[in-house]
Amino acid sequence: NTVTELTDYMNFQDLLEDEEKLVRETARTFVNEQVLPIIDKHAQEESFPFHLIPQMGELGFFGPTLPEEYGCAGLSNVAYGLLMYELERGDSGLRSMASVQGSLVMYPIFAFGSEEQKKHWLPKMAKGEAIGCFGLTEPDFGSNPSGMRTKAVREPDGKWRLNGAKMWITNGTIADVAVVWAKTEDGIRGFLVEKGTPGFTAPQMKGKWSLRASVTSELIFDNVILDEEKSLLPKVTGIKGPLSCLTQARYGIAWGALGAADNCYQTALEYSLSRIQFDKPIAGFQLQQKKLAEMVTELTKGQLLALQLGRMKDKGKFSPAQVSMAKMNNVKIALDICRTARTMLGANGIMGEYPIMRHANNLESVYTYEGTHDMHTLIIGQEVTGIAAYR
Ligand code: FAD
Repeated sequence: NTVTELTDYMNFQDLLEDEEKLVRETARTFVNEQVLPIIDKHAQEESFPFHLIPQMGELGFFGPTLPEEYGCAGLSNVAYGLLMYELERGDSGLRSMASVQGSLVMYPIFAFGSEEQKKHWLPKMAKGEAIGCFGLTEPDFGSNPSGMRTKAVREPDGKWRLNGAKMWITNGTIADVAVVWAKTEDGIRGFLVEKGTPGFTAPQMKGKWSLRASVTSELIFDNVILDEEKSLLPKVTGIKGPLSCLTQARYGIAWGALGAADNCYQTALEYSLSRIQFDKPIAGFQLQQKKLAEMVTELTKGQLLALQLGRMKDKGKFSPAQVSMAKMNNVKIALDICRTARTMLGANGIMGEYPIMRHANNLESVYTYEGTHDMHTLIIGQEVTGIAAYR
Protein backbone atom coordinates (compact mmCIF):
# COMPACT_ATOMS: atom_id res chain seq x y z
CA ASN A 1 0.00 0.00 0.00
CA THR A 2 2.95 2.34 0.35
CA VAL A 3 4.79 2.24 -2.98
CA THR A 4 6.78 5.47 -3.08
CA GLU A 5 8.61 5.32 -6.43
CA LEU A 6 8.01 8.17 -8.85
CA THR A 7 7.26 7.37 -12.48
CA ASP A 8 9.50 9.55 -14.64
CA TYR A 9 10.36 7.92 -17.95
CA MET A 10 11.17 11.06 -20.00
CA ASN A 11 13.11 13.16 -17.48
CA PHE A 12 9.97 15.08 -16.68
CA GLN A 13 11.58 16.21 -13.43
CA ASP A 14 14.18 18.16 -15.46
CA LEU A 15 11.43 20.35 -16.89
CA LEU A 16 10.46 21.64 -13.44
CA GLU A 17 11.59 24.79 -11.63
CA ASP A 18 13.24 24.39 -8.23
CA GLU A 19 10.20 25.74 -6.42
CA GLU A 20 7.97 23.27 -8.26
CA LYS A 21 10.26 20.38 -7.29
CA LEU A 22 10.11 21.51 -3.69
CA VAL A 23 6.30 21.62 -3.68
CA ARG A 24 6.20 18.15 -5.18
CA GLU A 25 8.66 16.81 -2.62
CA THR A 26 6.73 18.32 0.29
CA ALA A 27 3.47 16.83 -0.95
CA ARG A 28 5.09 13.45 -1.65
CA THR A 29 6.48 13.21 1.83
CA PHE A 30 3.13 14.23 3.33
CA VAL A 31 1.29 11.59 1.28
CA ASN A 32 3.83 8.85 1.99
CA GLU A 33 3.89 9.49 5.72
CA GLN A 34 0.40 10.70 6.54
CA VAL A 35 -1.94 9.39 3.87
CA LEU A 36 -0.88 6.03 2.46
CA PRO A 37 -0.72 4.29 5.85
CA ILE A 38 -4.30 5.28 6.84
CA ILE A 39 -6.31 5.86 3.70
CA ASP A 40 -7.58 2.34 3.09
CA LYS A 41 -9.14 2.28 6.56
CA HIS A 42 -10.95 5.55 5.85
CA ALA A 43 -12.18 4.36 2.47
CA GLN A 44 -13.41 1.08 3.97
CA GLU A 45 -15.21 2.99 6.72
CA GLU A 46 -16.57 5.62 4.32
CA SER A 47 -15.00 8.44 6.31
CA PHE A 48 -12.92 11.48 5.40
CA PRO A 49 -9.57 11.84 7.23
CA PHE A 50 -10.39 15.19 8.87
CA HIS A 51 -7.32 15.15 11.03
CA LEU A 52 -5.18 15.88 7.95
CA ILE A 53 -6.85 19.23 7.18
CA PRO A 54 -4.87 21.46 9.59
CA GLN A 55 -1.58 20.03 8.33
CA MET A 56 -2.64 20.46 4.72
CA GLY A 57 -3.44 24.07 5.54
CA GLU A 58 -0.12 24.57 7.26
CA LEU A 59 1.70 23.16 4.23
CA GLY A 60 -0.13 25.62 1.96
CA PHE A 61 -2.12 23.04 0.00
CA PHE A 62 -5.33 25.11 -0.21
CA GLY A 63 -5.62 27.72 -2.96
CA PRO A 64 -1.84 27.77 -3.48
CA THR A 65 -1.91 29.83 -6.69
CA LEU A 66 -3.74 32.74 -5.04
CA PRO A 67 -1.73 35.75 -3.84
CA GLU A 68 0.15 35.93 -0.57
CA GLU A 69 -1.81 38.99 0.61
CA TYR A 70 -4.73 36.63 1.28
CA GLY A 71 -2.60 34.10 3.14
CA CYS A 72 -1.97 31.91 0.08
CA ALA A 73 1.30 30.76 -1.44
CA GLY A 74 1.27 32.51 -4.86
CA LEU A 75 2.63 29.41 -6.61
CA SER A 76 2.68 28.59 -10.32
CA ASN A 77 -0.05 26.54 -11.94
CA VAL A 78 2.48 23.80 -12.56
CA ALA A 79 3.30 23.64 -8.84
CA TYR A 80 -0.45 23.41 -8.16
CA GLY A 81 -0.75 20.58 -10.68
CA LEU A 82 2.10 18.65 -9.08
CA LEU A 83 0.42 19.07 -5.71
CA MET A 84 -2.83 17.61 -7.08
CA TYR A 85 -0.84 14.72 -8.62
CA GLU A 86 0.73 13.87 -5.30
CA LEU A 87 -2.48 14.21 -3.28
CA GLU A 88 -4.34 11.93 -5.67
CA ARG A 89 -1.48 9.43 -5.52
CA GLY A 90 -2.78 9.19 -1.97
CA ASP A 91 -6.48 9.22 -2.78
CA SER A 92 -8.86 11.00 -5.17
CA GLY A 93 -11.02 11.89 -2.17
CA LEU A 94 -8.25 13.87 -0.57
CA ARG A 95 -7.46 15.60 -3.85
CA SER A 96 -11.17 16.33 -4.37
CA MET A 97 -11.35 18.01 -0.98
CA ALA A 98 -8.37 20.22 -1.86
CA SER A 99 -9.61 20.90 -5.42
CA VAL A 100 -12.99 22.04 -4.18
CA GLN A 101 -11.50 24.17 -1.43
CA GLY A 102 -8.98 25.88 -3.73
CA SER A 103 -10.42 25.93 -7.23
CA LEU A 104 -14.15 25.91 -6.60
CA VAL A 105 -14.50 28.00 -3.44
CA MET A 106 -11.40 30.15 -2.85
CA TYR A 107 -11.03 30.91 -6.57
CA PRO A 108 -14.57 32.32 -7.06
CA ILE A 109 -14.32 34.29 -3.81
CA PHE A 110 -11.01 35.69 -5.06
CA ALA A 111 -12.17 36.35 -8.64
CA PHE A 112 -15.78 37.44 -8.05
CA GLY A 113 -16.00 38.40 -4.37
CA SER A 114 -15.89 41.83 -2.70
CA GLU A 115 -12.74 42.89 -0.84
CA GLU A 116 -14.55 42.22 2.48
CA GLN A 117 -15.55 38.72 1.38
CA LYS A 118 -11.99 37.96 0.31
CA LYS A 119 -10.50 39.23 3.56
CA HIS A 120 -13.07 37.36 5.60
CA TRP A 121 -12.79 33.95 3.93
CA LEU A 122 -9.52 33.46 2.07
CA PRO A 123 -6.95 33.53 4.91
CA LYS A 124 -8.88 31.06 7.06
CA MET A 125 -9.67 28.83 4.12
CA ALA A 126 -5.99 28.78 3.18
CA LYS A 127 -5.18 27.55 6.68
CA GLY A 128 -7.93 24.93 6.56
CA GLU A 129 -9.72 26.69 9.45
CA ALA A 130 -12.81 27.00 7.26
CA ILE A 131 -13.98 24.47 4.68
CA GLY A 132 -15.95 25.25 1.54
CA CYS A 133 -18.16 23.46 -0.97
CA PHE A 134 -19.42 24.31 -4.46
CA GLY A 135 -23.07 23.79 -5.31
CA LEU A 136 -23.86 23.71 -9.01
CA THR A 137 -25.27 20.26 -9.86
CA GLU A 138 -28.94 19.57 -9.14
CA PRO A 139 -30.93 16.33 -9.13
CA ASP A 140 -32.34 17.13 -12.60
CA PHE A 141 -29.43 19.14 -14.02
CA GLY A 142 -25.94 17.63 -14.23
CA SER A 143 -24.26 18.05 -17.61
CA ASN A 144 -26.62 20.92 -18.39
CA PRO A 145 -26.31 23.17 -15.33
CA SER A 146 -27.82 26.19 -17.11
CA GLY A 147 -31.23 24.58 -16.64
CA MET A 148 -30.93 24.80 -12.83
CA ARG A 149 -34.07 25.40 -10.76
CA THR A 150 -32.48 26.80 -7.61
CA LYS A 151 -33.69 30.35 -7.45
CA ALA A 152 -32.79 33.53 -5.57
CA VAL A 153 -35.26 36.39 -5.43
CA ARG A 154 -34.48 39.89 -4.17
CA GLU A 155 -36.89 40.90 -1.41
CA PRO A 156 -38.24 44.45 -1.01
CA ASP A 157 -35.84 45.01 1.92
CA GLY A 158 -32.79 44.23 -0.25
CA LYS A 159 -32.19 40.74 1.15
CA TRP A 160 -32.20 37.62 -1.02
CA ARG A 161 -34.50 34.61 -0.60
CA LEU A 162 -32.97 31.32 -1.79
CA ASN A 163 -34.95 28.16 -2.60
CA GLY A 164 -33.90 24.90 -4.26
CA ALA A 165 -31.66 21.87 -3.93
CA LYS A 166 -28.20 20.79 -5.05
CA MET A 167 -26.90 17.23 -5.21
CA TRP A 168 -23.55 15.39 -5.30
CA ILE A 169 -21.78 18.21 -3.50
CA THR A 170 -18.27 17.38 -2.31
CA ASN A 171 -17.53 18.61 1.27
CA GLY A 172 -21.20 19.69 1.61
CA THR A 173 -21.92 18.39 5.11
CA ILE A 174 -18.57 19.52 6.53
CA ALA A 175 -18.46 22.93 4.84
CA ASP A 176 -18.54 26.20 6.76
CA VAL A 177 -19.52 28.01 3.58
CA ALA A 178 -21.16 26.93 0.34
CA VAL A 179 -20.72 28.74 -2.96
CA VAL A 180 -24.19 28.27 -4.41
CA TRP A 181 -25.19 29.10 -7.98
CA ALA A 182 -28.80 30.16 -8.40
CA LYS A 183 -31.05 31.71 -11.02
CA THR A 184 -32.03 35.32 -10.45
CA GLU A 185 -33.91 37.88 -12.53
CA ASP A 186 -30.59 38.96 -14.03
CA GLY A 187 -29.25 35.46 -14.77
CA ILE A 188 -27.18 32.99 -12.74
CA ARG A 189 -25.48 34.50 -9.67
CA GLY A 190 -23.19 33.08 -7.00
CA PHE A 191 -24.02 33.25 -3.27
CA LEU A 192 -21.99 32.46 -0.16
CA VAL A 193 -24.24 30.52 2.20
CA GLU A 194 -22.88 29.91 5.68
CA LYS A 195 -23.42 26.74 7.65
CA GLY A 196 -26.21 27.18 10.18
CA THR A 197 -28.15 29.77 8.17
CA PRO A 198 -31.85 29.07 8.92
CA GLY A 199 -33.45 26.94 6.19
CA PHE A 200 -30.13 25.55 4.93
CA THR A 201 -29.33 21.86 5.51
CA ALA A 202 -26.66 19.61 3.99
CA PRO A 203 -27.34 15.89 4.58
CA GLN A 204 -24.56 13.48 3.63
CA MET A 205 -25.14 10.97 0.80
CA LYS A 206 -24.00 7.58 2.03
CA GLY A 207 -23.49 4.28 0.22
CA LYS A 208 -21.03 5.22 -2.54
CA TRP A 209 -18.72 2.60 -4.03
CA SER A 210 -16.41 5.36 -5.23
CA LEU A 211 -14.68 8.26 -3.44
CA ARG A 212 -15.55 6.63 -0.16
CA ALA A 213 -12.99 8.76 1.69
CA SER A 214 -14.77 11.94 0.55
CA VAL A 215 -17.91 13.59 1.87
CA THR A 216 -20.68 13.96 -0.74
CA SER A 217 -23.90 15.76 0.17
CA GLU A 218 -27.17 17.29 -0.81
CA LEU A 219 -27.70 20.99 -0.16
CA ILE A 220 -31.27 22.01 0.59
CA PHE A 221 -32.43 25.63 0.67
CA ASP A 222 -35.85 26.26 2.14
CA ASN A 223 -36.55 30.00 2.16
CA VAL A 224 -32.99 30.87 3.15
CA ILE A 225 -32.63 34.62 3.70
CA LEU A 226 -29.27 36.06 2.70
CA ASP A 227 -27.69 39.43 3.27
CA GLU A 228 -26.52 40.92 -0.06
CA GLU A 229 -23.20 42.31 1.14
CA LYS A 230 -22.11 39.16 2.91
CA SER A 231 -23.51 36.66 0.45
CA LEU A 232 -23.78 37.83 -3.15
CA LEU A 233 -20.62 37.48 -5.24
CA PRO A 234 -20.80 40.92 -6.87
CA LYS A 235 -18.50 40.54 -9.84
CA VAL A 236 -20.06 37.87 -12.05
CA THR A 237 -23.40 37.13 -13.69
CA GLY A 238 -24.24 34.19 -15.94
CA ILE A 239 -23.11 30.60 -16.41
CA LYS A 240 -19.57 31.79 -17.14
CA GLY A 241 -19.17 32.26 -13.36
CA PRO A 242 -19.40 28.58 -12.40
CA LEU A 243 -17.83 27.44 -15.68
CA SER A 244 -14.70 29.50 -15.07
CA CYS A 245 -14.33 27.83 -11.64
CA LEU A 246 -14.72 24.43 -13.27
CA THR A 247 -11.94 25.25 -15.73
CA GLN A 248 -9.61 25.81 -12.75
CA ALA A 249 -10.62 22.59 -11.06
CA ARG A 250 -10.53 20.49 -14.24
CA TYR A 251 -6.99 21.64 -14.85
CA GLY A 252 -6.01 20.23 -11.45
CA ILE A 253 -7.88 16.99 -12.15
CA ALA A 254 -5.91 16.48 -15.36
CA TRP A 255 -2.83 16.28 -13.12
CA GLY A 256 -4.45 14.54 -10.19
CA ALA A 257 -5.74 11.49 -12.04
CA LEU A 258 -2.17 10.74 -13.11
CA GLY A 259 -1.18 10.47 -9.46
CA ALA A 260 -3.68 7.66 -8.92
CA ALA A 261 -2.41 5.99 -12.10
CA ASP A 262 1.21 6.38 -10.97
CA ASN A 263 0.46 4.64 -7.68
CA CYS A 264 -1.28 1.77 -9.51
CA TYR A 265 1.46 1.40 -12.12
CA GLN A 266 4.19 1.31 -9.49
CA THR A 267 2.23 -1.19 -7.42
CA ALA A 268 1.73 -3.47 -10.44
CA LEU A 269 5.38 -3.18 -11.46
CA GLU A 270 6.62 -4.05 -7.99
CA TYR A 271 4.13 -6.89 -7.62
CA SER A 272 4.91 -8.39 -11.02
CA LEU A 273 8.62 -8.52 -10.24
CA SER A 274 8.06 -10.49 -7.05
CA ARG A 275 5.08 -12.68 -7.93
CA ILE A 276 6.29 -16.07 -9.18
CA GLN A 277 4.16 -18.27 -11.45
CA PHE A 278 5.44 -21.08 -13.67
CA ASP A 279 8.80 -20.67 -11.90
CA LYS A 280 9.44 -17.08 -12.94
CA PRO A 281 8.28 -13.56 -12.05
CA ILE A 282 5.09 -12.70 -13.92
CA ALA A 283 6.94 -9.54 -15.08
CA GLY A 284 8.93 -11.87 -17.32
CA PHE A 285 5.89 -12.85 -19.40
CA GLN A 286 5.33 -10.89 -22.59
CA LEU A 287 1.64 -10.22 -21.94
CA GLN A 288 2.43 -8.58 -18.59
CA GLN A 289 5.28 -6.58 -20.08
CA LYS A 290 2.94 -5.27 -22.77
CA LYS A 291 0.63 -4.04 -20.03
CA LEU A 292 3.48 -2.33 -18.17
CA ALA A 293 4.91 -0.79 -21.35
CA GLU A 294 1.55 0.65 -22.33
CA MET A 295 0.85 1.91 -18.82
CA VAL A 296 4.15 3.77 -18.51
CA THR A 297 3.81 5.17 -22.04
CA GLU A 298 0.33 6.59 -21.41
CA LEU A 299 1.35 7.94 -18.03
CA THR A 300 4.36 9.68 -19.58
CA LYS A 301 2.26 11.22 -22.38
CA GLY A 302 -0.26 12.39 -19.78
CA GLN A 303 2.47 14.05 -17.71
CA LEU A 304 3.78 15.96 -20.72
CA LEU A 305 0.27 17.05 -21.75
CA ALA A 306 -0.47 18.31 -18.24
CA LEU A 307 2.86 20.12 -18.01
CA GLN A 308 2.44 21.91 -21.35
CA LEU A 309 -1.08 22.95 -20.35
CA GLY A 310 0.27 24.23 -17.02
CA ARG A 311 2.99 26.28 -18.72
CA MET A 312 0.38 27.77 -21.04
CA LYS A 313 -1.88 28.50 -18.08
CA ASP A 314 0.96 30.25 -16.28
CA LYS A 315 1.28 32.54 -19.30
CA GLY A 316 -2.50 33.08 -19.32
CA LYS A 317 -2.75 31.56 -22.80
CA PHE A 318 -4.99 28.54 -22.83
CA SER A 319 -8.57 27.71 -23.78
CA PRO A 320 -11.22 25.79 -21.82
CA ALA A 321 -11.24 23.22 -24.67
CA GLN A 322 -7.54 22.58 -24.10
CA VAL A 323 -8.34 21.93 -20.44
CA SER A 324 -11.11 19.57 -21.62
CA MET A 325 -8.58 17.62 -23.67
CA ALA A 326 -6.25 17.17 -20.70
CA LYS A 327 -9.08 16.22 -18.32
CA MET A 328 -10.67 13.86 -20.83
CA ASN A 329 -7.46 12.12 -21.81
CA ASN A 330 -5.73 11.91 -18.47
CA VAL A 331 -8.70 10.61 -16.49
CA LYS A 332 -9.43 8.01 -19.17
CA ILE A 333 -5.85 6.73 -19.32
CA ALA A 334 -5.63 6.78 -15.54
CA LEU A 335 -8.75 4.63 -15.27
CA ASP A 336 -7.37 2.23 -17.92
CA ILE A 337 -4.04 2.03 -16.08
CA CYS A 338 -5.73 1.29 -12.74
CA ARG A 339 -7.94 -1.40 -14.25
CA THR A 340 -4.99 -3.01 -16.03
CA ALA A 341 -2.93 -2.88 -12.85
CA ARG A 342 -5.81 -4.67 -11.11
CA THR A 343 -5.56 -7.59 -13.53
CA MET A 344 -1.83 -7.90 -12.90
CA LEU A 345 -2.33 -8.45 -9.20
CA GLY A 346 -4.77 -11.26 -9.79
CA ALA A 347 -6.94 -11.88 -6.73
CA ASN A 348 -4.78 -9.61 -4.60
CA GLY A 349 -5.85 -6.76 -6.88
CA ILE A 350 -9.27 -6.60 -5.27
CA MET A 351 -7.97 -6.26 -1.71
CA GLY A 352 -7.62 -3.07 0.32
CA GLU A 353 -4.08 -4.06 1.22
CA TYR A 354 -3.20 -2.76 -2.25
CA PRO A 355 -4.40 0.67 -3.44
CA ILE A 356 -5.60 -0.39 -6.86
CA MET A 357 -9.28 -1.17 -6.49
CA ARG A 358 -9.73 1.99 -4.40
CA HIS A 359 -8.08 4.17 -7.05
CA ALA A 360 -9.97 2.50 -9.92
CA ASN A 361 -13.29 2.93 -8.13
CA ASN A 362 -12.45 6.53 -7.25
CA LEU A 363 -11.67 7.35 -10.85
CA GLU A 364 -15.18 6.28 -11.90
CA SER A 365 -16.38 9.46 -10.14
CA VAL A 366 -13.54 11.54 -11.53
CA TYR A 367 -14.51 10.34 -15.02
CA THR A 368 -18.03 11.71 -14.44
CA TYR A 369 -17.62 14.84 -12.32
CA GLU A 370 -16.32 18.20 -13.46
CA GLY A 371 -17.84 17.48 -16.87
CA THR A 372 -18.26 13.89 -17.98
CA HIS A 373 -15.80 12.28 -20.37
CA ASP A 374 -18.51 12.53 -23.04
CA MET A 375 -19.09 16.24 -22.50
CA HIS A 376 -15.36 16.99 -22.79
CA THR A 377 -15.26 14.95 -25.98
CA LEU A 378 -18.08 17.09 -27.36
CA ILE A 379 -16.38 20.33 -26.28
CA ILE A 380 -13.29 19.33 -28.25
CA GLY A 381 -15.54 18.27 -31.13
CA GLN A 382 -17.16 21.69 -31.08
CA GLU A 383 -13.76 23.41 -31.01
CA VAL A 384 -12.45 21.54 -34.06
CA THR A 385 -15.67 21.57 -36.13
CA GLY A 386 -17.40 24.74 -35.00
CA ILE A 387 -20.57 22.69 -34.46
CA ALA A 388 -22.02 22.04 -30.99
CA ALA A 389 -23.24 18.43 -30.90
CA TYR A 390 -24.39 18.46 -27.27
CA ARG A 391 -27.60 20.41 -27.81
P1 FAD B 1 -26.01 13.41 -16.65
O1 FAD B 1 -25.74 14.81 -17.05
O2 FAD B 1 -27.43 13.00 -16.43
O3 FAD B 1 -25.34 12.43 -17.72
C1 FAD B 1 -25.66 11.04 -17.80
C2 FAD B 1 -24.96 10.48 -19.05
O4 FAD B 1 -25.44 11.16 -20.21
C3 FAD B 1 -23.44 10.71 -19.04
O5 FAD B 1 -22.79 9.62 -19.63
C4 FAD B 1 -23.27 11.94 -19.93
O6 FAD B 1 -21.99 12.00 -20.53
C5 FAD B 1 -24.37 11.73 -20.93
N1 FAD B 1 -24.81 12.99 -21.54
C6 FAD B 1 -25.40 14.05 -20.94
N2 FAD B 1 -25.63 15.02 -21.83
C7 FAD B 1 -25.17 14.57 -23.02
C8 FAD B 1 -25.08 15.13 -24.33
N3 FAD B 1 -25.53 16.36 -24.60
N4 FAD B 1 -24.54 14.39 -25.32
C9 FAD B 1 -24.07 13.14 -25.07
N5 FAD B 1 -24.11 12.57 -23.86
C10 FAD B 1 -24.64 13.27 -22.84
N6 FAD B 1 -21.27 18.75 -8.61
C11 FAD B 1 -21.14 19.98 -8.02
O7 FAD B 1 -21.78 20.94 -8.40
N7 FAD B 1 -20.28 20.12 -6.96
C12 FAD B 1 -19.54 19.10 -6.47
O8 FAD B 1 -18.76 19.29 -5.52
C13 FAD B 1 -19.68 17.80 -7.07
N8 FAD B 1 -19.02 16.72 -6.55
C14 FAD B 1 -19.28 15.47 -7.04
C15 FAD B 1 -18.75 14.34 -6.40
C16 FAD B 1 -19.04 13.07 -6.85
C17 FAD B 1 -18.52 11.87 -6.12
C18 FAD B 1 -19.85 12.90 -8.00
C19 FAD B 1 -20.14 11.53 -8.54
C20 FAD B 1 -20.38 13.99 -8.64
C21 FAD B 1 -20.12 15.30 -8.16
N9 FAD B 1 -20.73 16.43 -8.75
C22 FAD B 1 -20.57 17.67 -8.17
C23 FAD B 1 -21.69 16.26 -9.84
C24 FAD B 1 -21.07 16.03 -11.20
O9 FAD B 1 -20.45 17.19 -11.66
C25 FAD B 1 -22.18 15.51 -12.13
O10 FAD B 1 -22.46 14.18 -11.73
C26 FAD B 1 -21.77 15.54 -13.59
O11 FAD B 1 -21.76 16.87 -14.07
C27 FAD B 1 -22.71 14.71 -14.49
O12 FAD B 1 -24.04 15.01 -14.23
P2 FAD B 1 -25.09 13.82 -13.98
O13 FAD B 1 -24.51 12.90 -12.97
O14 FAD B 1 -26.40 14.45 -13.68
O15 FAD B 1 -25.15 13.04 -15.34
